[in-house]
Amino acid sequence: MSRLDLHLHTTHSDGSCTPTEVVTKAHRAGVTALAITDHDIMTGLAEAVTAGQQYEIEVIPGVEISSLAGNSELHILGYFLDWQDSALEDRLKTLRDSRHLRNPRIIERLQMLGIDITYDEVRTLAGTESIGRPHIARVLMDKRIVASAKEAFDRFLAEGKPAYVPRELPSPAEAIGWIKAARGLAVLAHPTWVKTEEQPLIDLVRQLKADGLDGVEVYYSTHAARQTREYLSLAQHLGLLVTGGSDFHGLTKPDIEVGIGKGTLHIPTSLLPKMKEAVGRL
Ligand code: AMP
Ligand code: ZN
Ligand code: FE
Ligand code: FE
Repeated sequence: MSRLDLHLHTTHSDGSCTPTEVVTKAHRAGVTALAITDHDIMTGLAEAVTAGQQYEIEVIPGVEISSLAGNSELHILGYFLDWQDSALEDRLKTLRDSRHLRNPRIIERLQMLGIDITYDEVRTLAGTESIGRPHIARVLMDKRIVASAKEAFDRFLAEGKPAYVPRELPSPAEAIGWIKAARGLAVLAHPTWVKTEEQPLIDLVRQLKADGLDGVEVYYSTHAARQTREYLSLAQHLGLLVTGGSDFHGLTKPDIEVGIGKGTLHIPTSLLPKMKEAVGRL
């Protein structure tokens, strides 16, 4: 059964599988086109493209950028980007630098809680420039301080928990603007995570559309059937593209697999020609 997966993380950000491993898993799951969407970095693409050629899987260049709107983090996915674009690379570098400002402060807080951990250990495990909380969670797992990434987030790393430190994030309009400037499509990731106490989702997405948003990630590993229907009708109502992805990370989200999410995800290949048409109109 042929399917898409347009939201995948690799070892180039906080995923635990290399681009080649991710593409191999995609092949096994019957995925015919995929997008690598690492956080704030695009260095994994070259290897993924090579692996994709081996399996005849189309590899779409992508990225995921965290932004802040009011009290809610919004993640913006970029697709079909010009990944050689130097302005985009400069922006992403700034975002990675802001991670390096925040991460040692998280480590300090963990140390103050009596936990034996150093930032060097996290950097060694990560082996990439784009270091996130899931890397810290993995060091805590390796040291048997927690049994899972979920426990690391629930006890220490999530917003409101004792080792949480915010980082400076762009506005969604900025993140969308950077993607558009690199001739990519901008898509709102996993609407299920958007906080809607301050503003109903439809008002927020309408505003994002005015800022240049092209689509909504309707199909997602943890969207219940009811949510998928709701987001589909929202996208159709606002004239936005529909996309989907598993948000595979490997070890820190062990219940989510490439292509099939928790087992029931099926992202139709018919979404891709519509995305390509929209890229052609840019
Ligand atoms: P950061 O980019 O450092 O702010 O970390 C955020 C990333 O952590 C998200 O993009 C998710 O991939 C991951 N994450 C957030 N909450 C959890 C959780 N409860 N369990 C595992 N991973 C999580
Ligand atoms: Zn992640
Ligand atoms: Fe995300
Ligand atoms: Fe993601």
